[in-house]
Amino acid sequence: MKIITTCKQTKSEKVDNSEIKVGISACLLGHSVRYNGGHSRSRLCLEELSEHFSYRSFCPETAAGFGVPRPTLRLTGEISAPRLVFSNNQQQDVTEQLVNAINPVIGTLADLDGYILMKNSPSCGMERIKVYQDNGYPHTRRTQGLFTAALQKKHPNLPIEEEGRLNDARLKENFILRVFAHNHFRNQVDTQPTLGSLMNFHRDYKYVLMAHSQSEYKALGRLLAETKPHQNIDNLRDLYFQRFMQAISKPASRSNHCNVLLHILGYLKRSVDGEVRRDIADIIDRYRRGEVNLATPLTLIKHYVQRFGSHYVQTQRYLQPYPSVLGLSNQL
Ligand code: SF4
Repeated sequence: MKIITTCKQTKSEKVDNSEIKVGISACLLGHSVRYNGGHSRSRLCLEELSEHFSYRSFCPETAAGFGVPRPTLRLTGEISAPRLVFSNNQQQDVTEQLVNAINPVIGTLADLDGYILMKNSPSCGMERIKVYQDNGYPHTRRTQGLFTAALQKKHPNLPIEEEGRLNDARLKENFILRVFAHNHFRNQVDTQPTLGSLMNFHRDYKYVLMAHSQSEYKALGRLLAETKPHQNIDNLRDLYFQRFMQAISKPASRSNHCNVLLHILGYLKRSVDGEVRRDIADIIDRYRRGEVNLATPLTLIKHYVQRFGSHYVQTQRYLQPYPSVLGLSNQL
């Protein structure tokens, strides 16, 4: 078993001064651990995201001692409990060998804020992995790799994504948003787990939540408001965190972004001239019609909020959910 950690200092705009640790399939970092002795080096992970993440890489199959190179592996049997076998010797069930190697590692990953996975692997794949039947054909339903399934079972709130899907701007933005939100929650709430910390977190993430689901924003607010001081904070924390991460698990829609931007514009009613606010509202409408990207109205709003907004609106995570140097809103 080998865990290779690659640490890089974040250059700018580090949020909360904490290191954001992200797990990653080792072949994506260029380690020659694939079945054929090669790797799947990811430029995106190594040259862009590494400025913001400290990676912890792991290869389940080499950790299990299958060697490099090795015959390809596949999943067989029942879709609900697939077994791992070598493609050239399906009688040799190596599921336990893999499970015995990954379980101790998965237990050490509680400090991660995300995981980037290699696609199409019976160990690391996040979805669409074939499970072969006795007749040699795969089931129509697909599943996850065995490592990923175990990772999600142990850390259900951990943001995970396949590297290939990060080429989609909306999926990439959503994954990075979730990673930073996960980190903020651990730093803001878990270091001091009180009802007050949860309420402060909910206040800071108001517009992020509204951009994803207005109804879930309200429901989570009610959950906190109805909590009595003597109630068990651990249960509340677990329920809130699970529902919060679920609420932001899909990209926010263009119309929801527009609603949030108009809400925030409303905070500038007293301090910014009506004509300027109408111009900003026009830009928001242009974004709604797809004529400009999200960065255009967002940058304008941020400019005025920084100059004239209250502390409440200035500290909204929606305006700075992750370092702006990532340029993610330019692509939305
Ligand atoms: S996909 Fe996973 S198991 Fe396969 S080589 Fe990469 S890290 Fe190893």
